Amino acid sequence: MDGKCPMCKEDLLLALILPCKHIFCFLCIKGHCLKNGANCYICKMSFDKSLIEKPPSMEAVREGSKDKNRWYYESNNNGWWEFDKRTSEIIEDAFRQEDPTVAFPIGSRTYEINFEAKRQYQKDETSKKRTITRSTRRDIKNLRGVAGIPLENYREDNDSDGIAGLSDSE
Ligand SMILES: [Zn+2]
Ligand SMILES: [Zn+2]
Repeated sequence: MDGKCPMCKEDLLLALILPCKHIFCFLCIKGHCLKNGANCYICKMSFDKSLIEKPPSMEAVREGSKDKNRWYYESNNNGWWEFDKRTSEIIEDAFRQEDPTVAFPIGSRTYEINFEAKRQYQKDETSKKRTITRSTRRDIKNLRGVAGIPLENYREDNDSDGIAGLSDSE
């Protein structure tokens, strides 16, 4: 186990271990399963799709400072989703370089952000727009989760409002 994802060949991001013991980035294997059904990219062993819909790991939410600027996209029903760490850093780098746009892969799709318009859209389907914003976890209102992993999964062992319960590891 060298810490790399067999799909994107990058360091594992939000690592998800399948029942067959193969490990992928959550978003990589989710992209594979949306197209091919819930089965392993390598050995094709099928698994319960709830693993993709409600992944058990909330490491993504636990890690990181509350005061660091991150990037968020609007939820379809109120509130904000935080981009995964890698994508958030790609966006932040482009923002600091004052690039007008930035493109990045999520799962099997390419998305683009236009900073002036504060919009994210799919590169091949520009009609699907979402508002984006730059904020910190301390200031973001109604954070729903990170990279499609809902905060409720984390709240189970947490009595308060979830966001305040996030721990700082930085
Ligand atoms: Zn990957
Ligand atoms: Zn496998």
